[in-house]
Amino acid sequence: MTGAVAATLAESVSASPGRTMRALTLVADRKIELLEVAAPSAPAAGEVQIRIKAIGLNHIDVWGWRGMAFAKRKLPLIVGVEAAGEIAAVGPDVSSFKAGDRVVAYGALTCGSCKACREGRDNLCENVASIMGFHVDGFARDLVNMPARLVVPIPDGVSFRDASCAPVAFGTVQHMLFDNAKLEPGETILVQAGGSGIGSTAIKMAKAIGATVITTVGDQAKAEKAKALGADHVINYRAERFEGVVRKLTGKKGVDVAFEHVGPDTFNGSLLCLKRGGRLVTCGSTSGQSITMNLFQLYLQQYRIFGSFGCSIRNIRESLAKMASGLTPVIDTEVPLAEFERGLARLESRQVFGKIIVMF
Ligand SMILES: [Zn+2]
Repeated sequence: MTGAVAATLAESVSASPGRTMRALTLVADRKIELLEVAAPSAPAAGEVQIRIKAIGLNHIDVWGWRGMAFAKRKLPLIVGVEAAGEIAAVGPDVSSFKAGDRVVAYGALTCGSCKACREGRDNLCENVASIMGFHVDGFARDLVNMPARLVVPIPDGVSFRDASCAPVAFGTVQHMLFDNAKLEPGETILVQAGGSGIGSTAIKMAKAIGATVITTVGDQAKAEKAKALGADHVINYRAERFEGVVRKLTGKKGVDVAFEHVGPDTFNGSLLCLKRGGRLVTCGSTSGQSITMNLFQLYLQQYRIFGSFGCSIRNIRESLAKMASGLTPVIDTEVPLAEFERGLARLESRQVFGKIIVMF
């Protein structure tokens, strides 16, 4: 099919009134239903319409599914926070994309005009409206209209499945390691929970620049897989105290960087693993919300702690470029659309190694 024919077809489809589409919708805590809902109208000026092909699951989906009493949102809510798809139609003034282009989208609805947005620090937007799939309707539906400025092309050779991991999983790790912790070749990094989607990504990205990687996992099968990804040392945290092993492995010096996302179960241990002046970067706390911290240790050891949430649009481009050069995500499972909840349950159970992808 030629581009022009595809565009015409897409436009006629996208403009047809009364048309419905599939949407995975959270209707109550822990209850997602595949519903037929009204399809979006044709994209407005500055917008593109994306036909979704793949969704990457993340812990934010699990938080949203369990119910977040403090989050401002209303049910029913279409789920899905990171996705890849192809352009179905473009708004009247959009020249940067055409029907058939393969793309991913930035799922935080930033303003595009504040100082942070103008400087490319999108995840620090002063007027960010919402996170799609968490506060407002997300990507787990056939068609979605998005501002074209939040859409990034997928390079040739990168599959929809892999690209769907760019906006959240890969982008978050890219931002944590290189914008925040400023990991450099030759440094040593401790990656907590190396079997998780972001843990496995962190191992691969850190090895790719020539860092030494120590990682923790919860069982022997995961230890083998983490080794196969290139981790230099793998610690089964159920069998050994990781703090002691890291001290031994680094000749009592400690690591340059600790990559955290587990929270209370490991946070203070991760701090103890740092060398003086070391950097801890965290993007999550799956084991709870609060810890107590030794402030003497914090300033005497001159630790630097970075909170990290999301990434910039530049980080998504960087992530996709890495995928195109062969640094691909580790995929645990692919599930069909109707089994989104099964994917979430698997993620929650921590039985995963890598990413769970929902395919349309
Ligand atoms: Zn902004």
